[in-house]
Amino acid sequence: MKQNIKLKVKSSFAKNMKAGYPLITEDAIMNMKDVKEEGAIIELFDDQQRFLGKGYYGKQNKGRGWILSRNQNETFDVSFFEQKLKTAIEHRTSLFQDERTTAFRLFNGEGDGIGGFTIDYYDGYYVISWYSEGVYQFKNEVIQALSNLVDVKGLYEKKRFASQGTYMEDEDFISGEKAPEPLLVKENDINFAVYLNDGAMVGIFLDQRDVRKTIRNKYSKGKNVLNTFSYTGAFSVAAALGGAVKTTSVDLANRSKSKTIEQFSVNGIDFEAQDIIVEDVFHYFKYAVRKELKFDLVILDPPSFARSKKHTFSAGKDYTDLLMQAIAITEKNGIIVASTNCSTFGMTKFKGFIEKAFKQTGGKYKIREEFSLPKDFKTIEEFKEGDYLKVVFIEKQA
Ligand code: SAH
Repeated sequence: MKQNIKLKVKSSFAKNMKAGYPLITEDAIMNMKDVKEEGAIIELFDDQQRFLGKGYYGKQNKGRGWILSRNQNETFDVSFFEQKLKTAIEHRTSLFQDERTTAFRLFNGEGDGIGGFTIDYYDGYYVISWYSEGVYQFKNEVIQALSNLVDVKGLYEKKRFASQGTYMEDEDFISGEKAPEPLLVKENDINFAVYLNDGAMVGIFLDQRDVRKTIRNKYSKGKNVLNTFSYTGAFSVAAALGGAVKTTSVDLANRSKSKTIEQFSVNGIDFEAQDIIVEDVFHYFKYAVRKELKFDLVILDPPSFARSKKHTFSAGKDYTDLLMQAIAITEKNGIIVASTNCSTFGMTKFKGFIEKAFKQTGGKYKIREEFSLPKDFKTIEEFKEGDYLKVVFIEKQA
């Protein structure tokens, strides 16, 4: 039996919670120390003893659990999870029917009504990511609910709460058939090799689907493309398929090279005609300036925070500087694709970085496209920080 606890919400937080804010934060609660275990069922009350919501305790990177229901009699059983998953599946009907796309997000945590876990779909296989030990206590219910609704060919999980230990082979596999290694999935007819059993990241970030399609369809033909922080080179592949004359992919991680070669190869692109460089991006910028290299399309997709030998990069502090370096090696009328998944600032502030970078380099620009999360990464109005992705296509005009 899970512990059942009543928590008192500070008056300054009660209004927001009442209005639908789903995340339970440490500073909002007066008696958090009453919670003794991960997965405890929590009932929240304001200082007038009025019921605000019901959820569970789970220590995450951000937050201490989630409100799942506004009904005090709710029980978090298989049928509760099944109802939420069913609605989520219906929301993705067009993606399930789209033969050109076989990988997408099926369940997006609080956006689909239950904070703390996500489910991704990879051509018949499912990957559940758990973000706290608390939500992991509902594992059996979630798996049962999922199996009641869809045909699960094979099931994997990522324990994103686990302390960094040594990675054990097969530890992510739960049940069913094992996926081939690699598993080939499609996204708008672009092939991607993914590895469901290879650590936290499978090889592709599904939230950039619309951006990849736009790069391929509208911005690549005849272009010389630089893809920085390129990881497995997914943007480079999209550009090459869109008719880029050449792509250059730069990433610090050693394994990015073989991964990128693989993604080109599964799309029938000659990787030897592309440049794949393992190097610190900031070092590459200096090299490009020295060699007077210029690109028609420059893609920037840094992590929110990264530390390399010589550099610490924090999106909130350093994005303007990154843009300035990109502007210096972008052709006139060229395009910079500026992307960030940093949840600590929104689109307005991000556009402020762009404005500042062009002001400081003395150039003009025009915003051509803007993206946030695609529709399978469902978000809710009440939790704006859930809509973390910001991508802006900027034309350098002078
Ligand atoms: N654009 C990629 C995802 C980027 S993930 C995609 O579409 O799939 C962030 C990547 O940045 C990681 O692969 C990491 O190795 C790389 N990285 C972090 N700091 C870096 C640096 N200073 N120079 C080059 N790459 C860096």
